This record gives sequence, structure tokens and C-alpha cells, in this order.
Amino acid sequence: MKKLFLPLLMLLAACQPEIIKIDGTSYITGRAVGKRLHLECLDKPFMLAGQEYIVSADPNERFFRLNGVKLWLAYPTVESEYGLCFSEYDFNNTLLPLFDAAPLTRRKISKIVIDPGHGGAHPGAPGKLAKEKEFNLAIAGKLAGLLRDNGFEVILTRNGDETLELPPRAAKAAESEADIFVSIHCNSAPNPDANGIETFSITPRGAANSNDNADHSLKVPPDENASGYRFTVDSFALSSAIQRRLIESTGAFDRGAKRARFHVLYNNTVPAVLVECGFMSHKADEDKLATPEYQTTLTRAIARGIADYAERTAPPAPDKVEK
Ligand SMILES: [Zn+2]
Repeated sequence: MKKLFLPLLMLLAACQPEIIKIDGTSYITGRAVGKRLHLECLDKPFMLAGQEYIVSADPNERFFRLNGVKLWLAYPTVESEYGLCFSEYDFNNTLLPLFDAAPLTRRKISKIVIDPGHGGAHPGAPGKLAKEKEFNLAIAGKLAGLLRDNGFEVILTRNGDETLELPPRAAKAAESEADIFVSIHCNSAPNPDANGIETFSITPRGAANSNDNADHSLKVPPDENASGYRFTVDSFALSSAIQRRLIESTGAFDRGAKRARFHVLYNNTVPAVLVECGFMSHKADEDKLATPEYQTTLTRAIARGIADYAERTAPPAPDKVEK
């Protein structure tokens, strides 16, 4: 009996489907995700583990963690008779591009638009030490300097305390033929305990935003043809690279690489992200944001995240031509 038991279990495992349908949506089992990403699948709690990577997730959640960093899914995970499952959309567009650069748009990143949020008549979130627009400009200015030192061409949407509406910000990347767009903001919440860092990219077409109450959201129904959707996968790869470096460098509370239909993401024409560097409404966060040292820590982390992304999207070196 015992001799038969193991082969029987293996046969049963081999017979398990990789893709299942729940309410008309396709899901891929966690076990199949592990197989495709060459990671070992452990149950209860669910985990995919390899030498370099650990993917952890809970059922019915809109996020998972990669090496501890919180990354938001387009659709919640589900628990099925085959264990935890991810939507097939998220496997192809969220998980896979973190491991394999093939789904990303090949592009040499040389020109970057940095967008300090708010400005002039729009102060952004109020703080006790400064207005959000002031922190945004200080962080963006440092980031621009560092990226230029690293060999990138940088265009700032504003260089001083100018009033600038959202459409010209979003249009800047197309106008200047830039390769990526990074908007810099600081957060605010009615709950004074809310704190930490989050980095947004556009919500996938048809999915819900990670935080539907957030500021800067479009107050109109989603336009299925918005230009920002063209780079949904690339923008998420950029936001998750930046979020990872920010959490690693600052030790701040990790709110995750999130999804939102903010104007500057939704109407952009290149991979675009919006970084919320900390909360004006949280005393310890604001105290840190006010120091030039912490602003430098933030900018180094963002620049490192951009470099990680640029490395992954770099076109292959041209074949050597024989003379
Ligand atoms: Zn803001």
C-alpha cells in the first residue's frame, strides 16, 4: 500500500489544473506560478521560494510581497481547492515582468521628466514645517542633480514656485521626447497615524485603484483609450523598482507599489510613476522630510530604482560587425 501511495500523490499533483475559472475570470494556481518562475511552492502560509526570491501572499488580498516589499495586484488572490491562486492577468502583467524582462518595452532610458507636484497657487498638503509643494521641489531638485550626475538628461516640469496645472505636466514627456516620467509628492491623511512611502503606477484597464479615496485621482469614469494604459506593465516595473529601493534605504513603513488613475499617470505617453515620499500629516514623517539628509536618502533611492529599471529595459548591445 505504502509503495503505491507516493506515486499516486505525484500523479494527483500532475493532474491538477494550472488554470482555473472562477466566475468567468481565469486564475493560475500558486503551484503553477512557482513552476513557471522556478520557485518552490510551500503551503500554509503560501510562499514561493528560491535562492534570490521569496514571494509571499495571503488569500483574498490585493497585494503580495516580493522579498518583503509590498506590491499591489490588479485583482485579489483567491483560495481554491488547488490552494492560493493569482489572476492570470496578474501572473502575466504583474508577477512575470518582475522576473523576466521580456514583457517590458525595450528602451534606452536617457531622458527623464521629473515633476515636482503642486506649486504656486496649489500648495498641496499642509504641514507644520512647510507646504507639500516646497518639499516636492526640494526633493525633485536633488533628484534632478543626481540623475544628471549619473549621465541622464533631466527636464523638470517646474523649477520654482510656479502654478502649473496637471495637463501640461502629463504632456511634458511627449513634448520633450523623454523616456520616463517621475512625479514627486508628499502624502496627507485625516488619520494622523498614517505614515510611510508608496509609489503609484497606472491602474490596469478595468481594475480598481489601490486607494480610491486618494487625492489627484481623476473624478471622471475611466477612459478605456487613455494613453497611460499603453505602458501599464512598464510603469509597474518602474514603480516596484523605486518602491523597493525606497523601503530598503529609508526603513519607512512600506505602503507598497500601488495603482491609481492619477491624471499624470493616466494621460502620460511614457512609463510613468508618482512617488509619495512620506506624510505631511505625520509628525515623524514630516520631521524627516524637512531634513536635507533625508531628502538626499530619498533621491538616492529613487535614482537607484530608476537605474535598476533602465538596466532591465536596455536594448541588447548591437552585434559586433566584422570588418
Ligand atoms: Zn501631492
